[in-house]
Amino acid sequence: QTVLGLETSCDETAAAVVRLEDGRAQVLSSVVGSQVAQHAPFGGVVPEIAARAHVESIDAIVERALAEAGLGYGDLTGVAATAGPGLVGGVMVGLSFGKAVALARSLPLVAVNHLEGHAVSARLGADIPYPFLLLLVSGGHCQLLEVAGVGACRRLGSTIDDAAGEAFDKIAKTLGLPYPGGPALETLAEGGDAARFVLPRMLLGRKDCDFSFSGLKTAAARIAEGLNTDAERRDLAAAVQAAIAGQLAERSDRAMKGYAQGHLGRGLRFVVAGGVAANRTVRARLTETAQARGFSFHAPPLAYCTDNAAMIALAGAERLALGLADGLDAVARPRWPLDEAAAAASPTHL
Ligand code: ATP
Ligand code: MG
Ligand code: FE
Repeated sequence: QTVLGLETSCDETAAAVVRLEDGRAQVLSSVVGSQVAQHAPFGGVVPEIAARAHVESIDAIVERALAEAGLGYGDLTGVAATAGPGLVGGVMVGLSFGKAVALARSLPLVAVNHLEGHAVSARLGADIPYPFLLLLVSGGHCQLLEVAGVGACRRLGSTIDDAAGEAFDKIAKTLGLPYPGGPALETLAEGGDAARFVLPRMLLGRKDCDFSFSGLKTAAARIAEGLNTDAERRDLAAAVQAAIAGQLAERSDRAMKGYAQGHLGRGLRFVVAGGVAANRTVRARLTETAQARGFSFHAPPLAYCTDNAAMIALAGAERLALGLADGLDAVARPRWPLDEAAAAASPTHL
């Protein structure tokens, strides 16, 4: 399979070409056009600005992805476009572009669930066999999933309020950091003393795999109001980062315990994916947790943690390899839980 991937669900316009051969993925090109500069003055993503920016840049980004791969449309075996979840105006831009390419070149189309893209993203950097336990931590999602195969996953738990990336972004804002807050908070936290401030440890010891960050957000905002020095802000950033990483590790630990019992005598693999997987403290805590439970630890290469089209191309290629494609009547879906995408896949392939 040689698949063109398109990603336009949020504030990145991205195109990539990925080759999947004998189950091994090779990224031939991955171009990400970020709209950060256009949204920064508003402190977050403005849907109308995003949709227009996708329209304006998608042609050039796709041309670049093909040029960098050294390929033309005639070399492709399929096209994969994000069909949701996300901002519907943006999703429609990439999905329509994908349909046009599929129609003009008689190529199969895959309408990819963006979260399925994140779920396979670690496979862009290493050969990670199914099944695996997945922690998906992005700007809009925070969930633990058992991934049995292509389009076959079961949700073990999810956040009851904010997503982990959302928590990073909102707390970063109260610390006066620019959007997007996650990476800025990580930079500020460097060398900070995480023990200086005591923050609530949400859901600690609870017997499920759910998450909650709103109490942490409120507590951090209250402390931030009373801060005067840069050193204090740095320490609060470190404390927040440690608290988020700690909760992700504690909840993952619980999921690993249950998963290990259900997969006796089989390879135990733990994968973290999504923008928050780029955070070094989060990676370190999860690596320790996985090791202690006898799991191998996997995370995507840094470039494929946040939104990109290589992960969409790979998700599409894996589906095409199983004969799963979508019609040109595929619709953009603002909401589309990953377990529903799984159910849509033909049961014979599960
Ligand atoms: P979703 O995938 O749920 O639709 P999204 O596509 O907006 O949401 P991603 O692109 O996967 O999310 O990730 C973006 C999120 O990751 C943002 O909330 C951002 O702050 C966070 N993030 C990125 N890098 C880091 C980092 N180094 N530390 C902490 N958070 C980070
Ligand atoms: Mg983004
Ligand atoms: Fe994403």
